Amino acid sequence: MKARMQTMLTHFGEENVHGAVIPPIFLNSTFVHESYEAFQEGKGHYYSRVSNPTLDVLEKKLAALEQGEAAKAFASGMAAISAVLFHFLKQGDHAICSTPAYGGTFGILGSYMHKFGIAADFVDFRDTERVRAAIKPNTRLIVCESYSTFFMDVFDLEAIVSLAKEHGLRTVIDNTCATPANLRPLEWGFDVVVHSASKYLGGHSDVIAGAVIASREIIDRIVQVEYGIFGGALGPFEAWLVTRGLKTFGLRMKQHADSAMQIARMLEASDKVAKVNFPFLPGHGQHAMTSKQFDQPSGLLSFELHGGKDAAARVINRLRYFKIGVSWGGFESLAYSPGMSGGHDQFAGTEYEPRLDRLIRISVGLEDTADLIEDLQTALEAAE
Ligand SMILES: *Cc1c(COP(=O)(O)O)cnc(C)c1O
Repeated sequence: MKARMQTMLTHFGEENVHGAVIPPIFLNSTFVHESYEAFQEGKGHYYSRVSNPTLDVLEKKLAALEQGEAAKAFASGMAAISAVLFHFLKQGDHAICSTPAYGGTFGILGSYMHKFGIAADFVDFRDTERVRAAIKPNTRLIVCESYSTFFMDVFDLEAIVSLAKEHGLRTVIDNTCATPANLRPLEWGFDVVVHSASKYLGGHSDVIAGAVIASREIIDRIVQVEYGIFGGALGPFEAWLVTRGLKTFGLRMKQHADSAMQIARMLEASDKVAKVNFPFLPGHGQHAMTSKQFDQPSGLLSFELHGGKDAAARVINRLRYFKIGVSWGGFESLAYSPGMSGGHDQFAGTEYEPRLDRLIRISVGLEDTADLIEDLQTALEAAE
């Protein structure tokens, strides 16, 4: 009998220590051994930069959540993503990444890795033929995200995986936005899932953490090389916080989904809103593919106003419960507009560029839905 998600999160992977109902935090840096020979055997933990019992608990739960063989917890989502990219790419290699991509991923693949002779192309994955056309003899890796940044585009995961298999390419997906409550990319054939656990997995906006989930073989190799060498280990206290957050993960995601759906419908009906970027709405062009791949939405969506930057600023400033800030996935509702900050190089010259200033991204939190709807409706009055 296989436990369902919430049951698994409550019990799985936790050893009983003194009958404590909550697993303890092992804050030790090193582990001592009975003898010279016992150390040589290399069983168990030896140094917390590599592994730690508090992280074990979290890693077991994360692997089970994503239906993977193994998981490794990292100090941040970016630590996880960089380790995976450096693991699969070497000098002379080429990667193809979906666009618009998370800013950090765009930063590593789009420029930083050039100094190692690693190139990348950012491609519109909504059309799999464009991905096919971007494949070069030195392409090694396909990188994509469960939703595109800001615009919430989704991609045909089955087609991407079959294209990759045809060409012998590895596939990596950042599943932070959708979460394994709604989408499990390993079931669609992806090789590796990466996460920022700072978002929904932690869920309380009190921790920065990341994770990689894949086959035991891939995880073991990443732990032996990139995890140890780059030193992106998650601290035990942070691991414990993510594990605590996970206890309510399934329940939180249900509430985020329900609230986001109601809010998206309200926005769609508003004459102040030109466009709602939320592929779970039946009128959205990618609705059929979305229903096929995702169990439910998360609390993330964006909408575009008829006005430009000034209208977006007025609406954001009028919000009361939605706080102004980056990140998302916590219990609190947040709003952000790309016009508030620079660093959107990847949009230059694209169809997305003129839409950035009039776009507001919201992370629908766990407040009462009716209050959030009233808050947005009041704020939208400031749009013109
Ligand atoms: C936040 C985020 C990251 C980076 O994670 P950190 O924990 O902030 O390092 C990567 N990808 C996506 C999609 C994110 O939202």
